[in-house]
Amino acid sequence: MTGNEPSMAAACSKKKIPLSLVLLDNIPTLLLFILGFLIIYRVSAAGAVLFGGYIIFSVVWFWARICPYCHHYNTLACPCGYGAISPKLFRKKSDKSFKKVFRRNIVVVFPNWFIPLAAALYLILTGYTSLVLALTVSFVLIGFVIIPLISKLVGCKNCEIREDCPWMNMKAGNVN
Ligand code: SF4
Repeated sequence: MTGNEPSMAAACSKKKIPLSLVLLDNIPTLLLFILGFLIIYRVSAAGAVLFGGYIIFSVVWFWARICPYCHHYNTLACPCGYGAISPKLFRKKSDKSFKKVFRRNIVVVFPNWFIPLAAALYLILTGYTSLVLALTVSFVLIGFVIIPLISKLVGCKNCEIREDCPWMNMKAGNVN
């Protein structure tokens, strides 16, 4: 975070992301989770249920551990709407920097991408069908192309804290 924090927070509190953009941010993620569930289900039904539980855990963890430190907390400026949901469940925090908190906690969402990917590779090697291929291609396209593109071109494009955001720096490969 920088010395611009108050002005950025003020800008965030006035800004309102349209519902269409919030949906654009969330629908591909929801589709990704459904595809991940379906891929894992083909390996193990119990594994798919566990994965579903993990998705819920990771999202709630994000609301609890990351959002309370964000400039978008308790505003309608958050591109995915979490900034409006988190305050209903968790109190604002400022004892650590957003950057630090983000870097420490963002790993919680990685399994939502990489466990289905591992399951898809396993299925391709051990039980290849055209359905497995279709699920895998859809998953990879949504998770590794469409979602990052939406973040880059829409969700994060006009964000006031873009330069300070560890997520953007991570994509640029210069988090320290
Ligand atoms: S921008 Fe990210 S960290 Fe900030 S409130 Fe929205 S989802 Fe949470």
